Amino acid sequence: MDIKEQGALLMRAIDKSVSTFHCVKYCEEQFLEEGFLPLNLTDSWKLEPGKGYFVEVFGSTLIGFRIPKDYKPSMPFHIAASHTDWPTLKIKPNPESTVGEYAKLNVEVYGGPIYSTWLDRPLSIAGRVAIKGEDYKNPEIRLVDFKRPVVTIPNLAIHFNREVNKGVEINAQKDLMPLLSNHFKSEKFFLEFLANELEVNSEDILTYDLNLYNMDSCALVGMEGDMLSAPHLDNTTSVQACVSGLIMGENTDCISVAALFDNEEIGSKTKQGADSVVLSQILEKIILSLGGTRETYLNSILGGLMLSADVAHATHPNHPEIFDITNKIYMGDGVAIKMHYGQRYATDAKSVGIIESICKEKDIPYVTFLNRSDLRGGSTLGSISSSILTMNTVDIGVAILAMHSARELMAIKDQEALTRIIAEIL
Ligand SMILES: [Zn+2]
Repeated sequence: MDIKEQGALLMRAIDKSVSTFHCVKYCEEQFLEEGFLPLNLTDSWKLEPGKGYFVEVFGSTLIGFRIPKDYKPSMPFHIAASHTDWPTLKIKPNPESTVGEYAKLNVEVYGGPIYSTWLDRPLSIAGRVAIKGEDYKNPEIRLVDFKRPVVTIPNLAIHFNREVNKGVEINAQKDLMPLLSNHFKSEKFFLEFLANELEVNSEDILTYDLNLYNMDSCALVGMEGDMLSAPHLDNTTSVQACVSGLIMGENTDCISVAALFDNEEIGSKTKQGADSVVLSQILEKIILSLGGTRETYLNSILGGLMLSADVAHATHPNHPEIFDITNKIYMGDGVAIKMHYGQRYATDAKSVGIIESICKEKDIPYVTFLNRSDLRGGSTLGSISSSILTMNTVDIGVAILAMHSARELMAIKDQEALTRIIAEIL
């Protein structure tokens, strides 16, 4: 697959991934199309060498894997991991709030968005809804996507906010409430609006996980049209590269795994996050299903290799001084190999050595990235996951600008480099 195709795949994934649940659904569709077989988390699995499978975990995490034809006990796991969630605003239960005729929604901030970038934009709503089911244990879970701009968060005019361009506090409770209507009709206006969209009775809606998303989607910008401005490049770039990498990968001496976790943006410590035992449990189920023992499972882990894929910070054109003096990366440089001796990134010399060797041999462009010594950068699920799964781990990703803005920016060609390195490992 070339640069254009990888770019088109990424843009499609961004448009489809309007919530973590939609992201997982779209990845499942891609696996199904390629002949991967769906599994249930709680079933007893009867896996066969030479086949690919995927298993969904609580709707927002997805693990895909492929067992080589000539599988042998103790073969290592090769894992590419990324995250399905991104910073957004989530709609609280009982969200209806009014001022005069205005109908507003009460929301909670999820993760660390740059608040100001969510203002004055056409926004839509997506996620999942629990609807009264056959019995109390089995509510019907339905995905919903309004697919049209239904809310917006208006800024305060500069005339009431003269210092706005010098930086003004944006309060999460007061300033981020999206406006749904300027002539509200009933007390439960949102619940009724949602029920109408789903074509169900509002009394049958139990609860929901709904988030706002940015309606003005992908745009190629720049003189050559080779920079992609789009929502949640963090971390749809890596999710799509993991999915494509597993589909394209041809490694026959490992069990290849794509692990797409929810909840990285809020610290990963959830039942389906990277800071949980969910991946290790699924890997153990794989080995047991293939007739392995606890020991062969541990051997497959201990000899394994993980690529933790998440975005990196490209050098900012207006603030180059914020970046390290000898380990900068610019958009278009290729894959960032992220290092931090304090282990906010999991990378060490041996694991980097493995990845650099592959990049050199296969002619995949890459740059090592470190933060300035006097700055603490972000962390990734790589260091979290590798403290649970004992294996060589490397943090990699595409370099972007404006991380956690409602729109981020990358060089489209870096997607191909990221996908290629993941496909080489898987
Ligand atoms: Zn991320």
